[in-house]
Amino acid sequence: MIRIGQGYDAHRFQDGGQLVLGGVNIDYPRSLLAHSDGDVALHALCDALLGAIGKGDIGRHFPDNDQQYRGVDSRILLREVHALVVREGFRVGNIDLTIVAQKPRLAPYMEAMRASIAADLQVNAEQVNVKATTTEGMGFEGRGEGISALAVALVEKT
Ligand code: MG
Repeated sequence: MIRIGQGYDAHRFQDGGQLVLGGVNIDYPRSLLAHSDGDVALHALCDALLGAIGKGDIGRHFPDNDQQYRGVDSRILLREVHALVVREGFRVGNIDLTIVAQKPRLAPYMEAMRASIAADLQVNAEQVNVKATTTEGMGFEGRGEGISALAVALVEKT
């Protein structure tokens, strides 16, 4: 049996702080405002995985009014979601992730994101695809107000 899930997230930029995308620190003078580390890509991925196993969404599992998740490394959330996937009797088939950002240029970080996500999901890097696109200046991402991410996850019953 295979199941599929999708996820979407968006966060607003703030000046300063550490920008983290796909579990990787990005060299940029702005970061994403969030209760956690603001890793919009991993949040979309968590939602895709939770969707695939029919377990709601990231906000249900890690409430943003819960102090234990303040500033949390989203890789910890992804690993917890993966543990739930395994407990429910599934393994990850493949992941496809798209980050929508006008800036910064993310191409230099793609392979590191792929490796980070593959490690957290205990799969081969070939099972994880990470892409980035601009919106040619249109919309909130294009105006540099924030970054969004979309993810699809396929899981297989073990
Ligand atoms: Mg989020």
